[in-house]
Amino acid sequence: MKSSHSCQAIVVICMDFRLRSAIRKWTDKTIKGGFDKVAIAGGVKNLPFVLDQVELSYKLHHITEVYLINHEDCGAYGAESTLEKHQKDLKFAKKIIKEKFPHLKIITLYQNLNGQFLKV
Ligand SMILES: [Zn+2]
Repeated sequence: MKSSHSCQAIVVICMDFRLRSAIRKWTDKTIKGGFDKVAIAGGVKNLPFVLDQVELSYKLHHITEVYLINHEDCGAYGAESTLEKHQKDLKFAKKIIKEKFPHLKIITLYQNLNGQFLKV
């Protein structure tokens, strides 16, 4: 039986405080149906953890969308924090989540420190 509380999406972001206000503006504008939020250093870097959270969000709140957001100058990536590396990790995370949850829509984004979001 489905529980009565549902939301539209899960949003996976880095814990980095510098991104917070731009993300809030962006989610207010983009996601109208509510969302679960996971803030973890490196965003999708710890994929097994992210996968668990997506699964819980799917089971508990019947989400239909997954937003994966990595960002510029991420401390969890250190010197590896290049656009190419983030693109690679985001695409891989998308592929793995899609294999497990084929019905979910997955949106991957790269956030610049100036607050811009780039579709990956
Ligand atoms: Zn970060």
